[in-house]
Amino acid sequence: MKASFDAIVIGAGQAGPPLAGRLTAAGMKVALVERKLFGGTCVNTGCIPTKALVASAYAAHLARRAADYGVVLAGPPGIDMPAVKARKDRISGVSREGVESWLRNMAGCTVFQGQARFVSATELAVGDDLLAAPRIFVNVGGRAVVPPLPGIDGVATLTNTTMLQLDRVPRHLAVIGGSYIGLEFAQMYRRFGAEVTIVEKGPRLIAREDPDVSDAIRGILEAEGIAVRLDAECIRFRPHGESGDVVVGVDCRAGAPEVVASDVLLAVGRRPNTDDLGLEAAGVEVDAHGYIVVDDELRTRTPGIWALGDCNGRGAFTHTAYNDFEIVAANLLDGEHRRVGDRIPCYALYIDPPLGRVGLTEAQARAAGKSVRVGQRPMTRVGRAVEKGETAGFMKLVVEAGSDAILGAAILGVGGDEAVHGVLDTMSAGGSADTLRRTMHIHPTVSELIPTVLGELKP
Ligand SMILES: Cc1cc2nc3c(=O)[nH]c(=O)nc-3n(C[C@H](O)[C@H](O)[C@H](O)COP(=O)(O)OP(=O)(O)OC[C@H]3O[C@@H](n4cnc5c(N)ncnc54)[C@H](O)[C@@H]3O)c2cc1C
Repeated sequence: MKASFDAIVIGAGQAGPPLAGRLTAAGMKVALVERKLFGGTCVNTGCIPTKALVASAYAAHLARRAADYGVVLAGPPGIDMPAVKARKDRISGVSREGVESWLRNMAGCTVFQGQARFVSATELAVGDDLLAAPRIFVNVGGRAVVPPLPGIDGVATLTNTTMLQLDRVPRHLAVIGGSYIGLEFAQMYRRFGAEVTIVEKGPRLIAREDPDVSDAIRGILEAEGIAVRLDAECIRFRPHGESGDVVVGVDCRAGAPEVVASDVLLAVGRRPNTDDLGLEAAGVEVDAHGYIVVDDELRTRTPGIWALGDCNGRGAFTHTAYNDFEIVAANLLDGEHRRVGDRIPCYALYIDPPLGRVGLTEAQARAAGKSVRVGQRPMTRVGRAVEKGETAGFMKLVVEAGSDAILGAAILGVGGDEAVHGVLDTMSAGGSADTLRRTMHIHPTVSELIPTVLGELKP
């Protein structure tokens, strides 16, 4: 069947569905194509299921610490992994079904299920259907990288997608990759009772962060009994006899050269789903890593085609994908000129305690040649953290000397993912550090110490 539309959206992830909503509300006839699960990565194999598991892991952790709070349990807590998984699946499922029913009941939107492939700059093949439109929005997301490491084809490995299907606790989980996704899985499975080893080829965890943040995170994980193996060179795999276990060669500068794991999770990065889209038929340019090249308003080099979300390489988060939708919709439908370059970088790492991050790190600010003043405070000196009995981590604010502009913040500590928004919103509103210094905050909160830290800046 050949059908014509005003717009086609490829992918029901984080940008596609709300964009279909705005386009149809503006009177356009829209086709939305999804090849797999409605809601995409975040809803099915990313943020939502992992944060549901993080919550179960936190409950287990707190139960083990019950005596610290004067709470007496009959015995040590157990983990019912099928029940943990069922809870996670329920939460994820409600979200997925919500997206699907929203799209299927959206007036003016026709949902196609299947793999979309460009036939030309204005046409897509989806199974036996040929869809045409003058505007096409690509929101195809990404998937886990499976690196060509020696021996990888001879052993069983997991990615975020398959890991989330487990309803058992691995005996010994080796997590390859010490960055955001790997660290979240490492801590949650340790709390579920697995022995966990993180294998990272770099000299420290989450290398994008300042070294003091990396070190503190390493300390938090090691305090829970997670083995952290850094400087791992030539990571390689082989089966451990007939046991089903995997020998992971790590060759770190210190410690044993091999680790025997029952399960191996690959968390070494993501790649965009652009290799099977037929982009060449539309003349859409991709970079060396397969990301679709876009301008600051998310237009590709082919007129009438936009790319949003993880596939454009301009962000790797649900909030960046959603913000992409807001930018495209505002510019197309509201006559605005919103740009990706205007947004302030922000994200969180959901280990416990979480890391909330906005703007520049101290290292980035110094590398940019800025004259920097830094304020720091350990969470042991934050009343709210002490009262909660969760004093790991610290907060750090980076300010430009002279202008007093807030350049960035890292809050690694209880409630850090929420508290950092006070800094983000102040930056977004153009406020200076003094705006926050003069703002009365609620007691007792983690946020109430932010003005204090800003009053104690050092070069
Ligand atoms: C384990 C994990 C945890 C994460 N945790 C967080 C977090 O806590 N916070 C956060 O902000 N981000 C997190 N992320 C990242 C977040 O999930 C992604 O940034 C976000 O989902 C990207 O949204 P998107 O719309 O670009 O793509 P996606 O959500 O991946 O959606 C793309 C959709 O396009 C479909 N598709 C692809 N190709 C085609 C095709 N050719 N035809 C038809 N359909 C197609 C796919 O099936 C998919 O449904 C996490 C990711 C992972 C893997």
